[in-house]
Amino acid sequence: MVIKMKDEDLFKKIDAIVCDYEKEIISLAKNLVKIPSENIVPDGFEKKAQEFLYYKLKDTKYLDLDMFTPLEVKEIIDHPAYFKGRNYKDRPNVVGKIKGKSDSKSIIFSSHMDTVTRNPLPWKENDPFSGKIEDGNLYGRGSLDMKGQIASTFILLKIVSDLNIELDGSLIVESVVDEENAGSNGTLASRLRGYNADIAIVPEPSMLSVCPACKGGKVYKVVTEGKAGTGYGGEELINPAYGLGALMRSISDYYDYINSNANPSGFFYKGEKKPREVILDKVQIGDLSPGGNITIPGKAWFSIFIQSLPGYSEQDLDNEFSSFILNVAKNDKKFLANMPKITGITRYLWPFETNPDHPSIPLIKESFEGFSGQSPKVEGAKFACDGFIFHKYFNTPTIIFGPRGGNAHAQDEFVKVGDLILLTKIFLYVVLKWCGGKIN
Ligand SMILES: [Zn+2]
Repeated sequence: MVIKMKDEDLFKKIDAIVCDYEKEIISLAKNLVKIPSENIVPDGFEKKAQEFLYYKLKDTKYLDLDMFTPLEVKEIIDHPAYFKGRNYKDRPNVVGKIKGKSDSKSIIFSSHMDTVTRNPLPWKENDPFSGKIEDGNLYGRGSLDMKGQIASTFILLKIVSDLNIELDGSLIVESVVDEENAGSNGTLASRLRGYNADIAIVPEPSMLSVCPACKGGKVYKVVTEGKAGTGYGGEELINPAYGLGALMRSISDYYDYINSNANPSGFFYKGEKKPREVILDKVQIGDLSPGGNITIPGKAWFSIFIQSLPGYSEQDLDNEFSSFILNVAKNDKKFLANMPKITGITRYLWPFETNPDHPSIPLIKESFEGFSGQSPKVEGAKFACDGFIFHKYFNTPTIIFGPRGGNAHAQDEFVKVGDLILLTKIFLYVVLKWCGGKIN
């Protein structure tokens, strides 16, 4: 460990304390990975993992522990950020809070327990719920996104309680449901239940970059319509696949077009050459069920996730994408009979940017440097997430800062175990400095 001049003793102390909890962090991360908690829209199977976490923390002394489903928060369905269409039976959030002595600055660490599904299968490295550690990497669905971070932050809570560290401001740690697939209602439910703070840290896997900015995005469905049949009577049919193919081919032009601006919006994205990702993820033409007919289908569609940058409203993104697609269609005679239809099929994940001068940024940097001897990158996150719930709807400065690893949403997802330990150290220092408190 490299120690900088500033607060040398405190860094040493924290290092020693967290080392004593190393095994506990790793074992909690492993155990959570072993319990599947997949988000399969409109359902989610987080309950077992959330209960495991709850009972693990239940006897922690100075901790107020809460478990509730989003719909137990009555006002949620009328909130403008509530996204309809998901089921919340047996999907509880878990929130732990250590109340500060005074009204000093408070902090919240927010992670999500739901994961994407185990697909695509098969995995090369073990199975999706093995929780195996090899070469310092913990493998399994959700290891990186983001059960490892749940372990880091909930054990942080336990450390503060076990050592009876008195904080001036409150410390809140949560594990929410339904973040994947543009969810975020779990995150919204916790805010409406009153768990708010002066700053939010969302430890999504930023690869140890400190990210005061986050991208946004939305999933769209593009449908082309034709005239179905096989034309036995010589009638004129229209195959919607040709129109769909033309639109799909145009997506690479759309990608170039939206990334052609040399100065992308958002302070933390300046200088990035291709800041906006476009993911064309699903296509359907015709009836895919077994025994489907040989026929020209009536409809075809693809879905696509498009990222946006800070400064883009939902309307901006809607307009940008639909005018591009409609313009392609207007100049193509395949669409003479039917123009394509474009609809948003998820909520808009709002991009956001915390003030570049926010004091939490140098604080996290200082802590990072103290424990690693290196300076972290400060940049915009490469992805979209639920952090906008804090930033846009609850006026909370929000920083994304999480571990390294790989293969999120793919086979062989893993997190670097060493980073989970490092994060607990960094976070403990940040909590002591931000909330006010010292180790006796
Ligand atoms: Zn995530």
